[in-house]
Amino acid sequence: MSTPTATAEVSMDAIVALCKRRGFIFQSSEIYGGLNGFFDYGPLGVELKKNIRDCWWNDMVRRRDDIVGLESSIIMHPKVWEASGHVAGFTDPLVDCKVSKQRYRADQLFFAAVIVDGQTVGYVSALESENTAGELQEKAETFKRKKAIQGQLAPVVAKDMTEAKPEEIALIPSPATGEPGSLTPPRSFNMMFETYVGALRDASAISYLRPETAQGMFVDFKNVVDTGRVKLPFGIAQIGKSFRNEITPRNFIFRSREFEQMEMEYFIHEDADWDKCHKDWIEWCRQWLLSIGLPESHLSLYSHPKEKLAFYSKGTVDIMFKYPFGVQELWGIAARGNYDLEQHAKHSGVPQVIFDEATKKKFTPHVIEPAVGVDRILLAVLCAGYAEEEVKDEKGNVEKRTVLRLSPRIAPVKVAVLPLLKNKPELVAIAQKLHAKLKRKYAVFYDEGGNIGRRYRRQDEIGTPWCVTIDFETIEKPGATFTLRERDSMQQKRITEAELFALLEEQVY
Ligand code: ATP
Repeated sequence: MSTPTATAEVSMDAIVALCKRRGFIFQSSEIYGGLNGFFDYGPLGVELKKNIRDCWWNDMVRRRDDIVGLESSIIMHPKVWEASGHVAGFTDPLVDCKVSKQRYRADQLFFAAVIVDGQTVGYVSALESENTAGELQEKAETFKRKKAIQGQLAPVVAKDMTEAKPEEIALIPSPATGEPGSLTPPRSFNMMFETYVGALRDASAISYLRPETAQGMFVDFKNVVDTGRVKLPFGIAQIGKSFRNEITPRNFIFRSREFEQMEMEYFIHEDADWDKCHKDWIEWCRQWLLSIGLPESHLSLYSHPKEKLAFYSKGTVDIMFKYPFGVQELWGIAARGNYDLEQHAKHSGVPQVIFDEATKKKFTPHVIEPAVGVDRILLAVLCAGYAEEEVKDEKGNVEKRTVLRLSPRIAPVKVAVLPLLKNKPELVAIAQKLHAKLKRKYAVFYDEGGNIGRRYRRQDEIGTPWCVTIDFETIEKPGATFTLRERDSMQQKRITEAELFALLEEQVY
C-alpha cells in the first residue's frame, strides 16, 4: 500500500451523508418528515458523543482537585430565569417575510443599497454566508443591468437588518421572494421554550426548559460550598441538555434547538487576578481540544470587542473552529465578574457569599465560565477527521477510501478484531477469545464477513484506529502474534496480546 493522498476539501454534504450511512446521526422523527433543529444520535454517534463527554468529565473533574461535578434539573424555578436576565433579554432579533412566511434572524439577513453615480436606486439582500459581500455585489450588478441603469456602480456596503433604517425596510427585498415590501422590522424573539408545571395551564404555571446549564451551578453554589469541602478557587462543572428555540437552526448539528452543553463555573476571590485566570482557562480549553485530536491549524481565538460585552462582563474570548461552512464559535470562555451570584442573592434574598479568613469579611466570588457544546465538538472532530483518499492496493490498482481520523480517545470503536477467514475454526476461536477479553474494557467490534481489505475499509470509515487480524502466523509461529493494522498510515506489523493491551492503555484515556 502506498501513502494515501487526500482528494478534496471536505464538504458538509459528505459529512451528513456519512453520518446517515454509518449510523452516527439521523434527523429526528425522520419517518414523519423530520423536525427542524432536532437530531438523533445512532449507534456510533452515541458512542462518539459519550466518549467526548467522558474525556471532558475525566479531565475537567476527576483529574483535578479543584473542580466538583453537578447535575441540576432541566426545569428550574421560573425566578431563576428572571434573576439571570433570560426572561427579559435572551432574545434574538426576528424578521418575518409576510408573503413567504419565512422567518429570519435579523443579524443573519444582510442588505445593501445599490448606489449608481451617488444615487440610491434600490436595495439587494442576501443571507449570511462565507461570501455575503460578494453575493450582494453580484446582485447589485444584476439589479443595475436588469433595470438598464447607466452610470458607475459603487462598491456595496453590507449591513444586517438590525441596522436598517425604518424607511429602508419597505425597500429591501425578501430573500424568499426577491421582491421588496414584505419584510417586517426586527423584533425581539425570546428563545426559551415555555412549558407548564403542574395541572394548571395559566401564567402562574409557566416554566422554561433551560437554555443553558450554567444557572444550575449558580443556584446550587451555596449547597456545594456548604457540603463539598471546597475552597477558593474552585469550580463546579456540569454536562447536560439545553434548549433554545433558535430562529434559524442550521449547519446540521452546529445550531440546533436541543443540544448538550459542558459548562464549568470557576469561582475566584474578588481580588484575584481574573485576567490571568481567564487566560489560563483559554489555554486549558485549547489544549483539551488538541488532546481529543482537533488540529491546531483549525483553531483560532476571537476576543469580543469591549463595546459589545454585557455591562458586567470583564471579557469574553471564543475558541473558533474552521468548519466547512466558515470559522465559527466552538467554545466561549467568559469572565463574568460576580454578576450571576449577586443577581440570585438579590432575587432570592439568600446571600451568595463566602467568608474570607484573612480579612474576616464576607464577599461574593467572581467567576470564569468556559462553556462549550458537545454537538459542536462532535461536528468539529468529524469535519477535521474526514478524508477521501486515493490509495494503491498490493497490485498497484488505485482505489478510493473514506477515512475518519478520530483520536483513539474518542473513536467509537477502538479496535476491530478480524479472523482472516471465517471458515477456519482455529482462527475464529482465537479471535473470539481476544474479542471477549478486549470488550471487558474497550468498545471493540468483531467482524468476520467479507474480504479483509473490505473489512479494513469499513473500519476506516467509522474511525476505528486499529484492526487486529488473526491469521495463519498467529497459529503457526510460537509467540502468538496478530497483525496490527493502523488506520491512518495503513501500516501493518506483528504485535502480541500484551503489546496490544499496552498500546490501548497508553492511547485510550
Ligand atoms: P452562538 O453565538 O453560536 O449562538 P452563544 O454565544 O449564544 O452561541 P453560549 O450561550 O455561550 O453560545 O453557549 C455556550 C456554547 O454552547 C457555545 O459555545 C456552543 O458550543 C454551544 N451552543 C450554543 N448554542 C447552541 C446551539 N443552538 N446548538 C448547538 N450548540 C450550541
